[in-house]
Amino acid sequence: MLKTNYHTHTKRCGHAVGEDEAYVQAAIQAGIKVLGFSDHVPFHPSCQKERMDLEEYPNYLNSLKALKKKYENDITIYIGLEVEYYEEELDLLIQFRKELDYCILGQHNLTLDGKYTLDLTTPEELDSYFHLIEKACAMHLCDYIAHPDYALWSYPRIDGSVKALAKQFAKLSKYYQIPLELNCGSGVHKGMRTYEEGLRYPYPTRAFFEVFAEEKCPIIIGLDAHNPNDFLTEEYLNRSLSIVEGLDLHFLTDYDLIKDAKERKQKLASLF
Ligand SMILES: [Zn+2]
Ligand SMILES: [Zn+2]
Repeated sequence: MLKTNYHTHTKRCGHAVGEDEAYVQAAIQAGIKVLGFSDHVPFHPSCQKERMDLEEYPNYLNSLKALKKKYENDITIYIGLEVEYYEEELDLLIQFRKELDYCILGQHNLTLDGKYTLDLTTPEELDSYFHLIEKACAMHLCDYIAHPDYALWSYPRIDGSVKALAKQFAKLSKYYQIPLELNCGSGVHKGMRTYEEGLRYPYPTRAFFEVFAEEKCPIIIGLDAHNPNDFLTEEYLNRSLSIVEGLDLHFLTDYDLIKDAKERKQKLASLF
């Protein structure tokens, strides 16, 4: 089982369940040594089923800081967010970046509360998705890219555009030395979907990881826990690993994400 997980939500986002402490206790029970919380980033407009409210953010920090102290002998807790890149929210993104241990990037919409990444069907939309992530990396706003293949949920087939997108992610990952995530969340929780090639999990997507293996990209596993029980089963982890079986992936183990986050934060500070 995993020793680290930097992709953990809390019930504040409106679609996760369980108390903060239950996540910590489940992670300890599962043998996790480094636990990072990365709930969905709050923005100015409220969106209660997708991310926490801005007013809940102080409570998020205080609750996790108290748990960090309470369980310091059992587990190392870091506090972060799963951010998304929207230019109009840049002030908040920079503020969070400065005060948090780390940030991961999971781009769920093409514009703030606009088109869902899960609904993309054209190569042009895949391009738009990538460019938002590219901008976030260029500004050093994130420390790993969560489910890069998230945009393939509704995309009907594995074609040249999908392979080109994977290559763009590989290039981005190498340029910024930023890990790409093998996600164990919704993509393998909700069952297989039918695509032109047949039935498969929407993500992780093997076609992406074939490119990541060839290009020797750093890969990090993220549970994307939305329920404390997600720590207590290996079912979803095993499903995700089965998708990439046989590929020579460069999995990061004993990776100090927080050290790299500190360096990226300094780079961001130097931009202003
Ligand atoms: Zn979520
Ligand atoms: Zn997530």
